[in-house]
Amino acid sequence: MYGFRFNKKFFGRKTNKTKEQQMLIKTILNNCQKFKSFVYGNTCFAIYEGEKVIEVEVKPRKNSKGICSGCHRPAPGYDSLDERRFEFIPVWGYLVFFIYTMRRVECTRCGVRVEEVPWAEGKAHQTKTYMQFLAHWARKLSWQEVAMSFRTSWPKVFRAVEYVVKWGLEHRDLSGITAIGADEIHWHRGHKYLTLVYQINAGSIRLLWIGKDRTVKTLLRFFIFLGKERSGDLKYVCSDMWKPYLKVIRKKASGALHILDRFHIVARINKAIDEVRAEEHRKLKSDGHEQTLKNSRWCLLKRKENLTEKQEIKLKDLLKYNLKSVRAYLLKEDLFGLWAYVSPAWAGKFLDRWCTRVMRSKIEPLKREARTLRRHKQLILNWFSAKKAFSNGIVEGLNNKVKVTVRKSYGFKTFKCTEIALYHVLGDLPEPKLTHRFY
Ligand SMILES: [Zn+2]
Repeated sequence: MYGFRFNKKFFGRKTNKTKEQQMLIKTILNNCQKFKSFVYGNTCFAIYEGEKVIEVEVKPRKNSKGICSGCHRPAPGYDSLDERRFEFIPVWGYLVFFIYTMRRVECTRCGVRVEEVPWAEGKAHQTKTYMQFLAHWARKLSWQEVAMSFRTSWPKVFRAVEYVVKWGLEHRDLSGITAIGADEIHWHRGHKYLTLVYQINAGSIRLLWIGKDRTVKTLLRFFIFLGKERSGDLKYVCSDMWKPYLKVIRKKASGALHILDRFHIVARINKAIDEVRAEEHRKLKSDGHEQTLKNSRWCLLKRKENLTEKQEIKLKDLLKYNLKSVRAYLLKEDLFGLWAYVSPAWAGKFLDRWCTRVMRSKIEPLKREARTLRRHKQLILNWFSAKKAFSNGIVEGLNNKVKVTVRKSYGFKTFKCTEIALYHVLGDLPEPKLTHRFY
């Protein structure tokens, strides 16, 4: 119905062609992006930086007062500044700009100030809507791809994502956090790490916080951010066996059940197996048996059910030899039995037996890990007490997503960029409400 009336009104009018074109864009804008106290004026083609673009004039509504950018309240006018342009969502391959002459107001509280406009923030050259639009696509494509697709630049896409993330962090709800997981990721070349803290409540899984390094100080900064009251509400904290984390969690979340999750334990065992394999491969090679362990790395690290056909054949072949790597692999596979237990007591007995076998195995890297597991037995068994609180593999899934984001972001040289990208993808942040669906 609406469309019909619209057409009749539109085509029924006898005006010249150029005016009709101007009307059309104004009509669309008044439908999807209307601002109280402002109206759209002339719309025309213009040449900007050598390109044909669409310019839309924006004017204050008659007798409307400017808003003071200091206190966000209306104030009497003072003077006008130069014309400014604000980039809006491009249409049909044309860049679109709002052209507006900024006013200054004389505020009784703040003095002479530039006015605040609803479509843009501070000195930004992009409208808020356009930034939200770019940020939306930046979740699906790399920032470089977004820049290319919408004929803008990488820094502009970065600023758009930064704006959306900043808004989201300011407006997110931090209530009801009772389960968190702390994880570390390798970042940049060399020994640089980031500490990530997630909320892992069933139904509410998101990245809460990112910090440089993985020291006691890093995690302490997280607890300062979380605050005393919310830290006191924590019921479950998941982490790996990294000493500084253990220390801080013991101190700052003393009321929570501290859990060492499967993902981190298996990751450590895999690292040990890799050491065993590399060492043995070197030895076999020097003895002239270099084919035996060649291309065996993933056969020994992956779970059996995830192997490719080729890897499966290789594994079958390997199992015929009495190699240290193979024995280490079989011990690792046995350890998976641990997490099938329901009762913590029986799981504890299983773990003891497994550690004893490893200690007798003469495989040094695995023995090192078994000693660590023994030391943290209680924290490992806590997993069984909390089994139903959150699903298995949450931290692992998040860890993988983080790795993909960091890998995809070869342009992120600074911590700030990485931080913003990770919050954008994993923060589950709220966004400013739009009155129209632009994407
Ligand atoms: Zn003011």
